[in-house]
Amino acid sequence: MSDGTGLAEALLGLPGFRVLGVSEAADEVVVRVETTATVTGCAVCGVRAEVHDRVEVAVRDLPCFGRPARLVWRKRRWRCRESRCEVKTWTETSGDFDAQAVLTRRAGVEACRQVGELARPVAKVAEEFGVCWWTVMNAVVEHGTPLVDDPGRVGPVDQLGVDETSFLRANRHHHTVYATGLVDLERSMLIDIVEGNSAADLRRWTANAAPEWLAGVTVVATDLAGSFRAGLSPHLDHARRVADPFHVVRVANRCADAVRRRVQNQTLGHRGRKRDPLYRIRKLMLTGAERLDERGAERMLLGLRAGDPHDEVLGAWLAKESVRDVYLAENYDDAAVLLDKAIAGCAADTVPEIVALGNTLASWRAEILAHHTTGASNGPTEGLNLCVKKVKRAGHGFRTFENYRLRVLLHAGGVTWPRRPAPPRIRTRAPHSNA
Ligand SMILES: [Zn+2]
Repeated sequence: MSDGTGLAEALLGLPGFRVLGVSEAADEVVVRVETTATVTGCAVCGVRAEVHDRVEVAVRDLPCFGRPARLVWRKRRWRCRESRCEVKTWTETSGDFDAQAVLTRRAGVEACRQVGELARPVAKVAEEFGVCWWTVMNAVVEHGTPLVDDPGRVGPVDQLGVDETSFLRANRHHHTVYATGLVDLERSMLIDIVEGNSAADLRRWTANAAPEWLAGVTVVATDLAGSFRAGLSPHLDHARRVADPFHVVRVANRCADAVRRRVQNQTLGHRGRKRDPLYRIRKLMLTGAERLDERGAERMLLGLRAGDPHDEVLGAWLAKESVRDVYLAENYDDAAVLLDKAIAGCAADTVPEIVALGNTLASWRAEILAHHTTGASNGPTEGLNLCVKKVKRAGHGFRTFENYRLRVLLHAGGVTWPRRPAPPRIRTRAPHSNA
């Protein structure tokens, strides 16, 4: 800043660099710089070096007043003057520029923050910086990986949630590819995400986790997937297993839905259409009974009377409600009575879907009731799922699971981002206009 072009250096904000010139080109600002170093010694023999020649490298820096900025660094190539020295010439380096990189270090960090913390699409950030997609993605990998791998990121976890998410939707090349999310239920933070949803996939992750960390987990909440129950063993056998209430109710809802669709097909010979009585009440059926007003309840009963000749759909609806009742109970004992009533009711039914629901409930009885002693549920992770969806939308489908994992964890994994400057605020000119 001590040189004649101090104004430009103040704008540039790269200590150790001097601005040689600023010009405007098509849609960008070009800043030519050199280091302020005029004297240097040979790293091997220590003899004072002389400037051999100059090489220019162009890199992208942070956008400048809304325009992409091109930084042209006139690098000195030094030559050792000692004729007996093995070193002939070398090019100067700077901590602000990574060798071979297309972005300055600070621009790479900012590109990573935009994609990771803010879940912005890589293509958008690349456009703003004036670089290609891969340049930004490489910056995300380079600067983001250490943040995700930081051993202090996760810390001790008491209540662990395990939940299935879809990674890639099915297309003509592959089936739906699933992933398993591991969540700290108390902090509502994504710990990790694993490719696949099998017992082996989950077990591979727990096998790699630190034993002390696993020992600290006292509760694991999952959906009613046998694969998760198996995958938690043996490394998390000591933790209390809880069936997540949301997923338990979803299993009951799906049962009611399945019976409705089957009866629909059997009575009318086709899938639900707009005017079909059962199709018209499909949403009412999944609404909690206590949330149905008188009109809604009446509409549902009329629909059942018209479309459910053998009361099969009604039976499934009652079974679904009996499952929901379990969560109205205030304590473990009441919940156990209600759950056993639901199980017995399903077992006594003749509708196969309802019998199957009863079997599922019976096989998860301990886990379902554990909710009432631990209070654990994946409820707090709902917001987290929204975060994951945001990343997925920004990604338009991911090429590799590694990139997906990195970006999801950067956004929802409790990463500590490098502190950014917090300048004093400039107050609004019209302080009362928004009041
Ligand atoms: Zn030398």
